[in-house]
Amino acid sequence: MNRPAVIHKTSPVGSVKPHWDDYEGERSRFSWRKARQALSGMPGGGINMAFEAVDRHLDTPTRDSVALRFVARNQPALDLSYAELARQTNRFANVLEGLGVQKGAHLFVLAGRMPALYIAVLGALKKGVVVTPMFSAFGPEPIATRINLGAGEVLVTTDVLYQRKIKPWRQQMPSLRHVLLVAEEGGLTQEPDTLDLGQLLREASDAFTTVNTSGQDPALLHFTSGTTGTPKGALHVHEAVVTHFQTGRYALDLHEEDRFWCTADPGWVTGTSYGIMAPLLQGVTSLIDREEFDAERWYHLLAEERISVWYTAPTALRMLMKAGKALAQQHRFPALRFVASVGEPLNPEAVWWGQEVLGLPIHDNWWQTETGGIMIANTPAFDIKPGSMGRPLPGIDAFIVEHLEFEGEPPRVRVLETPDVEGELALRANWPSMFRGYLNNETRYAKCFAGDLYLTGDLARRDAEGYFWFVGRADDVIKSAGHLIGPFEVESVLMEHAAVAEAGVIGKPDPVVGEVVKAFVSLKDGCTANEMLRMDILAHARKRLGPAVAPKEIAFLPVLPRTRSGKIMRRLLKARELGLPEGDTSTLEAGA
Ligand code: AMP
Repeated sequence: MNRPAVIHKTSPVGSVKPHWDDYEGERSRFSWRKARQALSGMPGGGINMAFEAVDRHLDTPTRDSVALRFVARNQPALDLSYAELARQTNRFANVLEGLGVQKGAHLFVLAGRMPALYIAVLGALKKGVVVTPMFSAFGPEPIATRINLGAGEVLVTTDVLYQRKIKPWRQQMPSLRHVLLVAEEGGLTQEPDTLDLGQLLREASDAFTTVNTSGQDPALLHFTSGTTGTPKGALHVHEAVVTHFQTGRYALDLHEEDRFWCTADPGWVTGTSYGIMAPLLQGVTSLIDREEFDAERWYHLLAEERISVWYTAPTALRMLMKAGKALAQQHRFPALRFVASVGEPLNPEAVWWGQEVLGLPIHDNWWQTETGGIMIANTPAFDIKPGSMGRPLPGIDAFIVEHLEFEGEPPRVRVLETPDVEGELALRANWPSMFRGYLNNETRYAKCFAGDLYLTGDLARRDAEGYFWFVGRADDVIKSAGHLIGPFEVESVLMEHAAVAEAGVIGKPDPVVGEVVKAFVSLKDGCTANEMLRMDILAHARKRLGPAVAPKEIAFLPVLPRTRSGKIMRRLLKARELGLPEGDTSTLEAGA
């Protein structure tokens, strides 16, 4: 494999001219105020995400283009045009209206990648209702935690998921007033205290006047995991749509004629910002595959669906690499012209692999739930340095900072101007999709800022040419297959097992998924560590947390290392697991 340290910006592939090719010039000309003008705004003067994504196209020829194309094994593809999506989302907004759901109420969606999910998200936004799409592979515990934290009033889910993950715990979610069920397959399995969404939609009018939301009205609530405590609900407002629109151009180079595939699930922020919003805003056709990863299937879809822009994740790319070049070489991808990836460090190897196997390099980019949209990216406008996350997009100022006092509140930092120095990645907080708070957690929110700098919690360095290189997380949060997992959430569930006295959870490096969740547990007196008990604890965690969050490995320890103040030292568990130096252990409790 040819492994150049720089992959030069290439001339456009095919007839499509990239949106930009002058990095410095575009940055100096850019302003968020001008960017807002590219969108139409509401007739009443506000801005509404769903109106911009769907209804704005109704007076243009895009109205008849396919907005969303759903594919699944053993089922014919289902295409929804922009006009049809507008009608369906209007119906959904009317359903909410009929139920008396008010602007500002919170709606959760728990469903696979099916039309109802997209219709519910966009329809709720039209009604001014705040939406949280949840990952359908979550177990009952993370689901109930999030619905309760967000005081969810409406839940849209499938009959199958309801029976498995909601019904037995429904009493523990007192805020839920309405549960709207969609049939997973065939006819709906009716359940008491639920409503049949299909029937409600059929009976609803397809005319609805989108609520004139202001840019600052809450629109999306995305949960993200921290090191301690419950997940944090990052609140995003309607004007975030300006970032979705602009970054869809700069970082994904979306053009109206594109056939786009974002492989992220809408249960995670990428799947909402770039699986729903950004492509619709550009009027492109999005492919939505309802199946799980399968290398052969993915190559087939890329080729047969004539995907031109593809946004995926490092874990998926590594799984494709593992499946071998021969499989890829059975396909041709003449339509493909731009590939990007996000969510975890992208090995340089994967960038070169893209060049060799797909004929295109992979453009890594960086952002997080809190930023709501892509901040730093490799783009068509400049050369790629494989292994780097790229450069800040127009409208984004990024810095490397060091903390002046570690436990200080509010944090105080110093910007490190010298290139190639490691520090925390910080961004000047002035872009529209910046989160506006952690729900009911002002204190935690305040800790994210040093003056006007938002502290990302990631460690990075910037080179002399302004490229940013990811170094690691500043905290103990785990990234597994691109999903952020809070160790505390996992530890809490492990502790509920009758035999477990204490639990500490770490991310153990893994060549394919980045990190796997590994738990260390000590047992209560009288319990014996053996294989049967290990399997029992694993099964308990899987049942409660779901396969995406539960530990893959459990090790027994007589006692876990704790600080003198009683905190489990996950860092030490990790260092010991990896055979690394233990670092500063001065706060370690004696005997641990
Ligand atoms: P989430 O909020 O779940 O989207 O996760 C955001 C976190 O994922 C970031 O804070 C980083 O730790 C990590 N991340 C996202 N993109 C990249 C990237 N391109 N390279 C390395 N880490 C990344």
